[in-house]
Amino acid sequence: MDKLFVNIFLLSSIIFTGSSDILQAESYTLHESTESKEVNIYSARKAYLLKPILKAFEKDTGIKVNIISGKSKELQKRIEREGTNTRADVLLTVDAGNLYIAKSKDLLKKIYSKKINTLIPEYLRDQDGYWYGLSVRSRVIMYNPKKVNLSDLSTYEDMANKKWKGRICVRSSGNIYNQSLLASLIYHLGEKKAKTWAKNIVHNFSRKPKGNDRTQMTSVILGECDITLANTYYLGKWMSSEKDKDRKYAKQIAVYFPNQSDRGAHINISGAAVVKYSKNSDNAIKLITYLAGDKAQELYAEANHEYPIRENINVSNIVKSWGYPFKQDKLSAAQLGKNNRKAVEIFDKVNWQ
Ligand code: FE
Repeated sequence: MDKLFVNIFLLSSIIFTGSSDILQAESYTLHESTESKEVNIYSARKAYLLKPILKAFEKDTGIKVNIISGKSKELQKRIEREGTNTRADVLLTVDAGNLYIAKSKDLLKKIYSKKINTLIPEYLRDQDGYWYGLSVRSRVIMYNPKKVNLSDLSTYEDMANKKWKGRICVRSSGNIYNQSLLASLIYHLGEKKAKTWAKNIVHNFSRKPKGNDRTQMTSVILGECDITLANTYYLGKWMSSEKDKDRKYAKQIAVYFPNQSDRGAHINISGAAVVKYSKNSDNAIKLITYLAGDKAQELYAEANHEYPIRENINVSNIVKSWGYPFKQDKLSAAQLGKNNRKAVEIFDKVNWQ
């Protein structure tokens, strides 16, 4: 009798608030009988990063987790292709730009959970409730300490200065990390200045863009250039690697957090979203809530040497060694997605490649 009342109450509150398209975490008793005790993740994050946390989630909730791994673009295409038949409940991916694209392709389900909104700071999530940041990464300047005076480093803007001519290597503009960095500069400096910045960086290239972040870091170490842009966790991977060569390399390059005296260093997120045609949405919400909680945050950020979404969470000693806390640019992650197209256009126009 009581349960029936609760269910009818919840149902009516959803109908009468006119928010039937919004899935409310608090209303899971409604679906409990029809949902299975599992949740399916399509993950662009490596399974080994998630394993310890998902095991803990399974143990604590009794919900079984299945993972399908792939690249972000492929997983999104798959969700699109599978349509209403998809088994995907949660999309886990990196970069706000990717999550923004998934939202604009109508692949995601809007959710509302007071608890999640309390756990995840507003600037790290979509304001409409379509996606949520679960870890923070920072794209910083990495430099060769033998060739660069610390006093010569200051901001992303300063990398456009002539003093860096022939001394910068970067990865290609096709990569979303640089697109998101430029998207932040478009927001802070305006389109015109951001374009001039990109043009001058191209003038300062020591070589054509090629490879991934680790390729750039290796180029710095081998003397092909003096500075680069890279995400800090790649250095963390080297520092904690079992390979002697990686650990040796790690000692020859240093991290510099730019813009510490103004807006802060550029950050991005890895995040999660509930898939539009998810059959286990309530379990999906429980999983996102779990990943945003203190216990998972420590593990999740540490597994990849990233940063937690709240500053009261412990970071690994490796992450601490670069300086923590540092000033982070708290521009809304959604803005990185919004300015993505403009960033790609600018890169094309200045021939960043
Ligand atoms: Fe990465």
